[in-house]
Parts: sequence; structure tokens; C-alpha cells
Amino acid sequence: MLEIRNLSVEFSTYSAGLRRHSVPAIRSLDLTVQAGTIAAVVGQSGAGKSLLAHAVLGILPANATCSGDMFYNGRRLTPRSIRSLRGKEIALIPQSVSFLNPLLKVGVQVARAGICGGMSAAEARSSAQQALQRYGLPRRTLGWFPFQLSGGMTRRVLTATATIGSASLLIADEPTNGLDPLTARETLGHLRSLADTGKAVILITHDIEAALSVADSVTVFCGGVTVEEARASDFDGNGSLRHPYSRTLWESLPRNGFTQAVPQPETAPQNGGCPFSGACLRSNGSCRETLPELTPLSGGKVRCWNA
Ligand code: SF4
Repeated sequence: MLEIRNLSVEFSTYSAGLRRHSVPAIRSLDLTVQAGTIAAVVGQSGAGKSLLAHAVLGILPANATCSGDMFYNGRRLTPRSIRSLRGKEIALIPQSVSFLNPLLKVGVQVARAGICGGMSAAEARSSAQQALQRYGLPRRTLGWFPFQLSGGMTRRVLTATATIGSASLLIADEPTNGLDPLTARETLGHLRSLADTGKAVILITHDIEAALSVADSVTVFCGGVTVEEARASDFDGNGSLRHPYSRTLWESLPRNGFTQAVPQPETAPQNGGCPFSGACLRSNGSCRETLPELTPLSGGKVRCWNA
């Protein structure tokens, strides 16, 4: 349903003397998600996960320049087509309560999302009620303000807002951040249910254990680069992971006794090489100088000179 190839994002900024220069934030991200599946995007903070979501939705800041190819149902996405799809075909489940207007009642905000998706005002009002009910929120929630919601309720309101229409692609940005384990499990269950109804879900998270509990595929971002596309089952610990950074992430999981601390990769290595070259035990001269291509390997893809 969505295919992203070689996406890069850089920000133009001013340094001393009002000299303008570009700061790369994403160098080369690739991602594919199919209908009826959850594609998890994992990596440390600063890897470019949320920027990817903002690029797909066309909501990057004005000083950002984006290049690369994005295809939605086989059609190339352009700024114009993104504007027409946003909120209708492609919806964001944001990570922060700050996406809700603190001065507007929940019912108004959920209904507004329906109107943006093409519903009439009357349709949107009744759909807002149904959307909240679908996520176990009582009818009276419609008349509440965001500050009256608990963390779990807020998450459910954000999910209801994103799913009130008929969006086929949902992007959930850190949906379990700050939630207690029970609410986090419930939130992930909602995403799984949405995928099981045929929607495509991109699950952006730094919590690999959470991702593995519901995802079909896992794409690993490292320093603004996709370093591996794997099946969720490749994280079972049977040696199927292809990239040294993915293996380091896996070894850092609680279930593996935190045997490995994850070093922070470089977003813009000086010579344009592999973002993991500063920490990788297999790094050599080529690694530091040239970024490898993302190459098919054992049913997945990897970007490593020594895979
Ligand atoms: S390209 Fe080189 S530095 Fe990067 S992960 Fe592979 S071996 Fe390590």
C-alpha cells in the first residue's frame, strides 16, 4: 500500500554571520507496508522515525527539504496528492496529547476529523459517538475537555479521531509512550484489530518488545538510515537478524538480560559512511567512507558491507 524509497530530509538553518547551510536529518529511509499488516519502525530517538511520519503526511516544517520516492497504492505521492489524502486515506495517531485542542470538547474534535474526511456535520457527530464507543469510552466523554482524560483515555480518543473516517493507512507515532503496561497492551491490541480489518498500520516505536507483540514486519532505522527490513519472527533469537545494529538492539532487550548497551549512531558521519561505523566491531575503511545500498538478503533487506 505504501512504499518509500531512499527518502531524505534536511533542514536549512542559519549559522553565525547569517550563513545558510543544510543539516541532514534523514539520509536514506526505505519502508514498505501492505494492507492488513502492521509494519513496525524501530530505532533510538533521533533515528528519523517521527520525521518519516511527518514526511508521509506532508507536515514537515517549512525549512525542511524532502527528496526520494513515495508511492501510495502504486501512485507517486506529490505534495498535492498528500494534501488530498491526508485525513481521508492516510491518518496519524499522534504521540502527544498536544495534538488535541485543550479548549475544545472531545466530541467536537473527533467530529471535526470526520468532517475533514468528507462526512457531513450530522454524520460526523453520530460517527464521533460510535468511534468513542468502539474504544470503550462512555458517551459522556463527548462533552469532556482533554484535561479531564486519563493517559489511556487520551490515547483512545486519539485513535478514535484517526479512525473515525475510512483511512486505509494509519501511522501510529509512539502509541504506548507513557502508558502503563495494561493500557499499552490495550492500545497495541486496537492497532492489531485495525490491521485485521484490512488497514495498513505503521507502528513507530522505540519499544521493540511492544512492536514484536503485534507487528508483522520490522524496519530498523539507525541514524537516519534504514539498515534492515526484517520479519517480526527474525527477532526470535535464532540468529536471523542481518545487521549488527539490529542484533545490538535485540541483545539490549530485557528478555536477553540487557547484555548489550546500544550506542548512539551518527546521523551525519563526516565521510558519509555507515551511521553505525563508530560502534561496529566489524567496521573497516569502506564502512566509514561509503553508505552501502539496502540489499535483499534471506527474505529481508540489509544495508551492510559485511552482512
Ligand atoms: S557497514 Fe560496516 S560499520 Fe556498518 S554495520 Fe556493516 S560492518 Fe558495521
